[in-house]
Amino acid sequence: MFMYDYQYHCPRSIAQAVALASDYPEGKFLAGGQTLIQTMKLRMAAPTDLIDLGFVPELKGIAADAHRVTIGATTQHAQVSRAPDIRQHIPALAHLASEIGDRQVRNRGTLGGSVANSDPAADYPAAVLGLGATIHTSERAIPADDFFVALYETALAPNELLTRIEFPVPRRAGYVKFKSPASGFALVGVFVADFGDAVRVAVTGAGPMVFRIPEAEEALRDHFAADTIDAGSCLVREDELNSDIQASAAYRAHLIPVLVRRAVEQALQRQP
Ligand SMILES: Cc1cc2nc3c(=O)[nH]c(=O)nc-3n(C[C@H](O)[C@H](O)[C@H](O)COP(=O)(O)OP(=O)(O)OC[C@H]3O[C@@H](n4cnc5c(N)ncnc54)[C@H](O)[C@@H]3O)c2cc1C
Repeated sequence: MFMYDYQYHCPRSIAQAVALASDYPEGKFLAGGQTLIQTMKLRMAAPTDLIDLGFVPELKGIAADAHRVTIGATTQHAQVSRAPDIRQHIPALAHLASEIGDRQVRNRGTLGGSVANSDPAADYPAAVLGLGATIHTSERAIPADDFFVALYETALAPNELLTRIEFPVPRRAGYVKFKSPASGFALVGVFVADFGDAVRVAVTGAGPMVFRIPEAEEALRDHFAADTIDAGSCLVREDELNSDIQASAAYRAHLIPVLVRRAVEQALQRQP
């Protein structure tokens, strides 16, 4: 089966990429192509134009200090998993990136592509929400709590370009996922971050989009230990969870407190 025809564009700056997106409203940004090219091959997407972000230097790179880690949109998962700055400041984020898909996916797929795509089973959204990151775009800065809107839907406007993501450095954090053996995607994945005065718990894979669990966050803020968490501190409505060929909603609901506990244990082990 062949893809529909499209025009290929190769901008060299953010301004050029955004201008092309406005000239071709039925076009799409192309990052690692790990999702977009497949959907085009399956004829589930038929953009008139592909705007390749791979030659825009402003979208690449990693910067870090003791307070924040900033990662450019086209930084590949493999680069995030190996970056010494990320391993030092937010090891749970490097670990999360190392668990995405397989080697080929990690070498091509990008942070910006994954977060803009907002697959309900993707890993990065858990870190973005769990760390309370800020998503920078060609237009504005969007807090993580306002970014994920619905299934495959974010706050990004159609031609808005995600440029970089700024992650605050927590005191300690952990990420654990129960993965689909076929793809590596999360059946359920949990990111826990302890900032001292606040704890954030974000769950991916379980529902139509990533979400937080306020009861678990409050319990962990008072006492950051795995045995703080029981089913009562992870109140989620089973009828709002995904149920599919891989796992029922009840199974996913059962996994959530189990994985919150494991993520807390991982955070405690990683504590400097
Ligand atoms: C076999 C396989 C296994 C996988 N396993 C996992 C897994 O375990 N965990 C996981 O999280 N993911 C997994 N993925 C998905 C992978 O992480 C992809 O990299 C990711 O979904 C899309 O990133 P990309 O850079 O390839 O984006 P693309 O496919 O190029 O783009 C995806 C979408 O985002 C838009 N877009 C891209 N960049 C930007 C930007 N900067 N601003 C605005 N819009 C943008 C595109 O227009 C497109 O609509 C897997 C993929 C495959 C093929």
